[in-house]
Amino acid sequence: MKAIALISGGLDSILAARLVNSLGVEVIPLNFKIPFCKKDPVYNQDSLGACLNCVDISGEFLKLLENPRHGFGSNMNPCIDCKIMMLSKARQLLDKFGASFVITGEVLGQRPMSQNRQALSVIEKESGLEDLILRPLSARLLPETIPEKQGWVRRQDLLNFSGRTRKPQLELAGRLKIKDYGQPAGGCLLTDPRFSQRLRELIAHKELNADNLELLKVGRHLRISANTKLAVGRNEKENQLLADSAKEGDYLFSPGADMAGPTSLGRGEFDRELIELSCALTCHYCDLGLGASADIFFFKKNNDTQKQNESSLNVLPAAENIVTGLRI
Ligand code: SF4
Repeated sequence: MKAIALISGGLDSILAARLVNSLGVEVIPLNFKIPFCKKDPVYNQDSLGACLNCVDISGEFLKLLENPRHGFGSNMNPCIDCKIMMLSKARQLLDKFGASFVITGEVLGQRPMSQNRQALSVIEKESGLEDLILRPLSARLLPETIPEKQGWVRRQDLLNFSGRTRKPQLELAGRLKIKDYGQPAGGCLLTDPRFSQRLRELIAHKELNADNLELLKVGRHLRISANTKLAVGRNEKENQLLADSAKEGDYLFSPGADMAGPTSLGRGEFDRELIELSCALTCHYCDLGLGASADIFFFKKNNDTQKQNESSLNVLPAAENIVTGLRI
């Protein structure tokens, strides 16, 4: 008997897969990639004896995000629709892998929006996997599934975890000698209030696309006009990331090499006034004495030699209240 196990990289999904595997079921680990994972999933091949299968669903996920049928959790996390999408995809892969059911690491009552009885039932129905999702960590508290009815796994070998406590999972991880795992849901940027605020703003301006989303993960963000944003690096790593992320048509701003300060990336429609404002905002974050001005260098990125069109402006730093008013 084979089953697909959804692997998020967090502890619960690994525990669920390992537990069912220990009951004699061959487990095919499957990870769905969305553009909001903070890191690649933590997965140790030795633990299941199988390579992790990864499927990128970023494009479809971005469309879902604009109007999820079941709404959002406390931030921009459309967890119910996200799970329906992933489980529907898993159902479509059952034949390909010769698998008969799907395993998830969901725990009853662990998340108020997506792991209550009603949500679990909606997710099953709408993914087309009614009675075919085995949630081994909570199975004894949930209705019997086909794998149990058919005797592919025995109900008494499954568990009755519930609620938000992590204690039983950590004990089970100890018993199964699982050491490498990521943080539960802490790995999804959509549960982060600050990131969610920026994302909401991006969607409201109809600017949601893969490039803008990547930019959203780096630096401080300022809305400097209806169609223009400035991302300002907070450290050397972010300065470099911003410089590397610049696309054709973007502007890059930075102080001269002799002054400590950020690299800023401007994206959108620029005129002279917005270039001056971007220089002043970049200058605001430079290491300057009181009342001092600075030369800020800038150029518009193009596909040829990028610095050919570099210019500079000598500006005073933007005032604190202006910066605060523009921060997203
Ligand atoms: S936390 Fe993120 S990845 Fe997890 S179900 Fe919710 S939206 Fe999907």
